[in-house]
This record gives sequence, C-alpha cells and structure tokens, in this order.
Amino acid sequence: MRLLALNNSYAQLPERFFAHTDPKPVSEPRLIRFNRPLAEELGLDADQLTSPDGLDMLSGHRFPEGLQAIALAYAGHQFGNFVPQLGDGRALLLGEVVDVNDIRRDIQLKGSGPTRFSRNGDGRAAVGPVLREYVVSEAMAALGIPTTRALAAVLTGDPVYREVRLPGAVLTRVAASHIRIGTFQYFAARHDTGGLKILADYAIERHFPQLVGQARPYRALLEAVVAAQADLVARWMLVGFIHGVMNTDNMTISGETIDYGPCAFVDAYDPSAVFSSIDRVGRYAYANQPHVATWNLARFAETLLPLMSTDESEAVSQAEEVLGSFQSSYETVLQRGFRRKLGLLTEAEGDLQLAADFLDVLARSEADFTLAFRRLGDDLAAPDDQGGARQLFEDPGAFDIWSARWRQRIASDAADTAARRAVMHAVNPKFIPRNHRIEAMIQAALGGDFTPFEEILRVISRPFDEQPEMERYADPPRPCLL
Ligand code: AMP
Ligand code: MG
Repeated sequence: MRLLALNNSYAQLPERFFAHTDPKPVSEPRLIRFNRPLAEELGLDADQLTSPDGLDMLSGHRFPEGLQAIALAYAGHQFGNFVPQLGDGRALLLGEVVDVNDIRRDIQLKGSGPTRFSRNGDGRAAVGPVLREYVVSEAMAALGIPTTRALAAVLTGDPVYREVRLPGAVLTRVAASHIRIGTFQYFAARHDTGGLKILADYAIERHFPQLVGQARPYRALLEAVVAAQADLVARWMLVGFIHGVMNTDNMTISGETIDYGPCAFVDAYDPSAVFSSIDRVGRYAYANQPHVATWNLARFAETLLPLMSTDESEAVSQAEEVLGSFQSSYETVLQRGFRRKLGLLTEAEGDLQLAADFLDVLARSEADFTLAFRRLGDDLAAPDDQGGARQLFEDPGAFDIWSARWRQRIASDAADTAARRAVMHAVNPKFIPRNHRIEAMIQAALGGDFTPFEEILRVISRPFDEQPEMERYADPPRPCLL
C-alpha cells in the first residue's frame, strides 16, 4: 500500500538524533475526523488515508511497507528544571511531505504508543486532550497565528488510564518541523558540538534557507528564531492566548505554536491568569509569556555559543546582542496589532498607552477580553456608547473615561466608520475556542457524541465572521452583565 509519498530528511541525520520505532497494535481504529482541506494543502490523498489501511497507519497500528517511523530525541527545561532526556515519549514522526507551497512539513502521530523515550509513561493519549489540541490548533490557524495543524483524530479502541479509564486516541499532527529549543539542549547537555552543528545546519536549511552561506550563520539562526518567537508570542498576546506550558521543549525553532496542553484563551481579563494546575507561581501566566520566551531563547543561545565563536566571551557578547533584539521585535508586532484592534489607522504618540489603559480597565472589571475588543468595533456605529462594549464592564464609569479618549483619538484619523470597523473586525475575533465549550465538547465525546466537536470546529474555522446561529459560542463562561 502506498499511502503517502513520504520521505524523511530527519531520519538521514545521525542515529543518535532519534530512535526507530515499530508500530504498536491497537484494537479498533476508528476515525473521528479527517481534515480534508489540510490534506489537499499537503497534496495527500484523503480517500486513501481514510481507508482501512489509512486508519491502521493513523492509529499507529500498522505502517505501510517502507515507512520507518522515528521518535525524536530532545531535552528541555520543564518549569525551570533541566531534564537532559525527554524525547518523543508518545509521538512518532512518520515522515515529511512537501506541500503545495513547496514547504516541507512533518506528519507526526501523537498518542501512538511507547517509544525509547517514554520513561514511565504509557505512550498514549486520551481522547479529550486529542480533541482539545485538534480544536485549538485549528482555531489558531484560522486566526492566522503560526501553529502546528491537525490532520486527523482516530480512536484506538483501547482504554488509557489516567485518574480514570478513558478512550484512547491518536492525533495526526502536521508541523513545519518538530525541532525544539530542547532538541538543541539535548546535544549541548552531552557536549556534542558535532551533533549541534549538524542540527543547526539542518534547521537553517529547512527553516531559514536564506541564511545558508552567511558569514555568521549561527548568529543569524539565533536572530531568526528570536524574531520568529517574538512575533509569535506577540500574536498570542493580541488574542489573549495562554500557552500554559512554555517549557523549552515546547518551543519550536520554526516559530510555530506547538504542544497544546492546558492552554486557554483568557475569558475575564486577568494578566496573571494561569492555565496549568502545576504552575503555582504563575511562571506561564498570560502577562509573563514574553519574559518566559526570552528566558527560553537565552537557553537556546547558550547551546549555540560553541558554534558562534571559539572565543567564549565573544560568543556571549554576540548572543546577548541578539537576545536584546527580542523586546523591540515583540513591541513592534504588539503595537501594530493593538493599533488595529483599536481601529487606529495612523500612528500617534500614546497609542500603546491607550491600549495598555484599556487592558487596565478590562482587568479592573474582569471584562471578557475577546468580546470587549469585538464590541468596540460594533460600537463605532453607536456614538452614545450604549452599544455592547460598555455593558461588559462592572465599572462603566472607568470604561466611559477611557472610551472618550479613544473616540477623540480615532476622530483624528481620517477614515470612515465602515472601513475602520472592517479593520477591527478582521483582527478582533468573534469566536475563539472557549474553555467551557471545549470542556463540554470533551464530556460529550466521552459519551460517544462528537457533534459538539464538529460544531465547535465549524465555528472556530471562521473566527472573524458573524455567525448568528452560533451566537452562543461567543458567550463567556459566566453570564456577562449584558
Ligand atoms: P508534554 O508535557 O506533552 O510536552 O510532554 C513532556 C514530555 O513527556 C515529552 O517528552 C513527552 O513525550 C512525555 N510524555 C507526556 N505524556 C506521555 C505519555 N503518556 N507517555 C510517554 N511519554 C509522555
Ligand atoms: Mg511537549
């Protein structure tokens, strides 16, 4: 059976980069969902992949002849503590496809059984987290934020045991690559400078081919990754996304969001919101994400020091210089984004302060982040502020004071209301995958009902469009004041 025209450039790297891994039988592969538009983008045959042979592969049960799956080696800082060996403990790289845009992308199974890197884990995934990652990663893609994608979700027919017995499932994930900061740390921790150089050269060629042949390629690689991550984290902040587990093994070199665990979009705005129950000190809180990103990037820079210069102090000063560029890259994306969110079509002194003050007013009223920005756009046609936004605030007086400043500011831009509103509605989503909806969807799926999963996916695939029949998906978890 020839299901995929896969090759695997990563498997051509030295053996110590990965572990060849056999498929692990499962009882009864059953398709939950297959992402046909994505398959088309990848140039894959959807009918073959959803055939019984296809489902055998997508459940990790049996692979077509010639397919040699690998589990990738990596390390990482988890909540600040370095673990020299993590690796794909429950994931397998099937191979790569070159998509219709000529981009090489990984096809990976997640939840496909134990590997050499499983440590004490079972290598499996429960259906809940699989569906959560499916929905949130597809929502991020629809929002235009770099992310891994979901190609398929398949039930295995076997239980997995967490605190309770749960149905097992496998997610097929698509990524620009699965190279993480932790992949570099794996070789650095072993003082394997040869391995580091091979990895860095591979990453440059795959993700930043324009840097091949540069005089200082490893410094350029660091610059490119810092810029990509600054851009990514700023985009998260602009939609209120909290990754939840920004360990160095969950941060890619490509600049895609990866590994959706206990992540969430903030509802009632609170800059200290945290979404991992084990994150007691708020390391990965919403407002801390740019700081954690720079911390993680500093760990990345450390791995590159021996490649950047034989003179360590020279290498350190290069790395520091590059790391210093994070803040300005981040602020540039953030400022541009907040201007659009507020409908400011020109640049003026004080715009960022206006945005920061809005966030303050939001925080004080614990108003819903997504709805508040969306309704500002709706309110443009309602000059008396009696439209939707004001009603989200417990303290409408504070909103009124801010709103008067905002209206004064937009009055200085020459733009008609419809154009301004279009700009705002193109960046302020109406629909995000809200946590309470995801939880309800998972509960339904556990009872065998996948209709809420299908519905939520439909809604979040058009986040900026009005979908009147789906209005309830825009509602925050607790009734807003309305
Ligand atoms: P994560 O928290 O999903 O980013 O995973 C952190 C590390 O734990 C990675 O090396 C995973 O492969 C591994 N891991 C997570 N869950 C399991 C599991 N059920 N079985 C084996 N390894 C796992
Ligand atoms: Mg991970």
